[in-house]
Amino acid sequence: MKANRVYNFNPGPAILPLEVLKEAQSELLNFNNSGMSVMEISHRSPEYDEVHNKAKADIKELMGLGDDYEVLFIQGGASTEFAMIPMNFALDGKKGNYVLSGSFSTKAYQEAEIQGVGVVAGSSKENNFRNIPKQDEIKLSADAAYLHICYNNTIYGTEYHYIPETHGVPLIADMSSDMLSRPLDFSRFSLIYAGVQKNLGPAGVTLVVVKKSFIENSPENIPTMLRYNTYSKKNSLYNTPPAFGIYMVGKVAAWIKKQGGLQAMAEKNAQKAALLYDAIDNSNGFYKGHADKDSRSFMNVTFRLANEELEAKFVAEAKKQQLCGIKGHRSVGGMRASIYNAMPYEGVKALADFMLKFKEENL
Ligand SMILES: *Cc1c(COP(=O)(O)O)cnc(C)c1O
Repeated sequence: MKANRVYNFNPGPAILPLEVLKEAQSELLNFNNSGMSVMEISHRSPEYDEVHNKAKADIKELMGLGDDYEVLFIQGGASTEFAMIPMNFALDGKKGNYVLSGSFSTKAYQEAEIQGVGVVAGSSKENNFRNIPKQDEIKLSADAAYLHICYNNTIYGTEYHYIPETHGVPLIADMSSDMLSRPLDFSRFSLIYAGVQKNLGPAGVTLVVVKKSFIENSPENIPTMLRYNTYSKKNSLYNTPPAFGIYMVGKVAAWIKKQGGLQAMAEKNAQKAALLYDAIDNSNGFYKGHADKDSRSFMNVTFRLANEELEAKFVAEAKKQQLCGIKGHRSVGGMRASIYNAMPYEGVKALADFMLKFKEENL
């Protein structure tokens, strides 16, 4: 392990690429010969402009999107998007349609409910969110303004393996925990958003990638900072942006490009996930995966052991091996290993090896 760093399986804030952290460290006191750190320069300076616009361009390039899409940087986390989406799009008596596939999609729906515009279009709650609803389990209401889905369910460890067909109804996705983890036909989405602290940077930036035509006419009777077109009209510089966070997101995007882009990320992520799912599937029931097999996440691997005592022992012994952050969310219990883009293969291999050893010692 380099530089006294542990293998960090935290769900978010989460691991960042070591190269990116080192690069930021080397530039911290004197960014681009300005004699200042990037945290200290004006967000109206040419030095910052370059950082901002390069981050936007790299993200669009990675996603394979053209000029009909815009990248926005917003604050308030993904949770603020939950409220902004119905405010901006559930207009003229139309309703926001939601698929409930876990905690965050339910919270998104609740924000629409507060505004009196939420409709449940599908749910896997009955199955304790072990699966992603299938296409034929999603029923849009006749007055649907959009369909909102959460692509990767960070807490339950499930992920969509298909893009729902909405027959022309705009599709909106929360991709907080799997943004830029694999290629997809992103042009099928009208709006994608992500709190970047899971897979792309430090907390404080929400990345929004949106079809320009979808936000041309934001309603004018909602607060300026909650209108999407405030950000698009001013290149996300209407007010002071979270400049350091955006700088870090830009570095992570450049790092992903250097790794070979989203296809290369997807291949690595699939290999890593397979190590853990194989460890679960080959354990004769010692480890029990939470997610149904056809809905398993490539980013968050959730599993339980026979009882809570054994689970606590697992967490404690893993920590001694520098395998940190694997205690699951209280609503699922058990373990959750978050294996985002920045988690190296060796880290996941170390966890898989530990799982095998722990099983043998505790059968
Ligand atoms: C963490 C998370 C959120 C909440 O993000 P905040 O930025 O903390 O508001 C929303 N959706 C998903 C899928 C998440 O993983």
